[in-house]
Amino acid sequence: MAGPILQAKDLVRTYEVRQGMFGRPSPVRAVDGISLTIMPGETLGIVGESGSGKSTLGRMLLGIDPAQAGEIAFDGQAMPKLGTPQWRALRAKMQLVYQDPLAALDRRLTISAQIAEPLAIHGLVPLEHRQTRVAELMSAVGLRPDQADRYPHELSGGQRQRAVIARALASRPKLLVCDEPVSALDVSIQAQVVNMLRDLQEENHIAMVFISHDLKVVRNIADRVAVMYLGRIVEEASSDVIFQSPLHPYTRALVSSVPVPGRPLKGRTILQGEPPNPANRPSGCAFHPRCPMATDICRTTAPPLRAISADRTAACHLVADSAEPVAA
Ligand code: ATP
Ligand code: SF4
Repeated sequence: MAGPILQAKDLVRTYEVRQGMFGRPSPVRAVDGISLTIMPGETLGIVGESGSGKSTLGRMLLGIDPAQAGEIAFDGQAMPKLGTPQWRALRAKMQLVYQDPLAALDRRLTISAQIAEPLAIHGLVPLEHRQTRVAELMSAVGLRPDQADRYPHELSGGQRQRAVIARALASRPKLLVCDEPVSALDVSIQAQVVNMLRDLQEENHIAMVFISHDLKVVRNIADRVAVMYLGRIVEEASSDVIFQSPLHPYTRALVSSVPVPGRPLKGRTILQGEPPNPANRPSGCAFHPRCPMATDICRTTAPPLRAISADRTAACHLVADSAEPVAA
């Protein structure tokens, strides 16, 4: 069996953030000791409230935001330093799609010119075959041939995001990091773009990190889900396990907030309060001020992320090792 396409160990990223206009800068641990493994062709969903560190983690996995501590290996090789020729060469194999396609595209270039760009930059397709490859990519993402000479502002939001995805696929990446790729699109278009992404990813056997605050979308696309709270993973398991039997109280509240046809609103767990200021991390389990199950130990001791079963890790004092049978 092939090894992981990406392996991250104990990643840390701290920003100095000023509290108020005249406040002194204080450190915010946006990513606080995260480890994860992504297999070829697998989709890992990353969920959590705003400010939990999802986007920072996504950028770190591509080496765009360098880790201050920890290690990343891409396809078995240590991630080269940002901006080096080795990193640029690797960049063709790992692509980022983010929320705002208009910001990702160059307003002065036609769609076909932008899709052709990576083919030229990475010397992937000889000039005489480039237009054919651009046409293939446009067709793969559902853009019409007559849209090739359009400029980004002449397309709809959904079409622009399709163009961004075509450009990301041009270099035949092994890993795609999608950071809220559909949250700026009309709800009616979101499902089309997500389904298209899933089909293309499966056809091309691309691993994907899919970052979203929208659990419905993540449920639709992810094989596995990591739940983040204040820079740490608090639970990770297969998508079915996370959505059908969440164990961590934070995961339970997030999953419970997803409307399910036929499930009464009564009985849902409501997530209390707002996420704490990351510059002032609560003691012990960072979730304790909002957790309905918190006990004394939760206020003083941070629960480690540990294996609960063969297919699940969780960080909570109250989740027993015996919550599920552990495979030998
Ligand atoms: P959102 O869904 O709102 O984008 P997120 O889960 O992606 O949130 P991040 O954007 O990664 O979270 O932010 C995590 C923390 O790091 C936040 O407290 C944020 O303010 C801080 N942060 C992120 N980027 C920077 C930066 N460039 N400079 C300073 N602080 C930052
Ligand atoms: Fe709640 Fe305690 Fe578990 Fe944290 S460790 S999630 S506060 S029960």
